Amino acid sequence: MRHEMRAEYQETEGEQAQPWPVKTWHMVRDGERSAMCGRELRPDARALSEEDWGRTPEPFCHSCGALYLREVP
Ligand SMILES: [Zn+2]
Repeated sequence: MRHEMRAEYQETEGEQAQPWPVKTWHMVRDGERSAMCGRELRPDARALSEEDWGRTPEPFCHSCGALYLREVP
């Protein structure tokens, strides 16, 4: 099964300041809208390859990390 990383953004007031700062990275199963931990993510959220897990300056969702590590060999 393939996965990709998707960004959860920090909450901002109104529609100013794009792109929004990334708050946390989540892992999403290929073709699904919500993260493995159950969080709904914006459809236009930035996506990264799963190979970047652990390599970005922003933190990762611990729940997604635990589930992801169980699904990949
Ligand atoms: Zn998550």
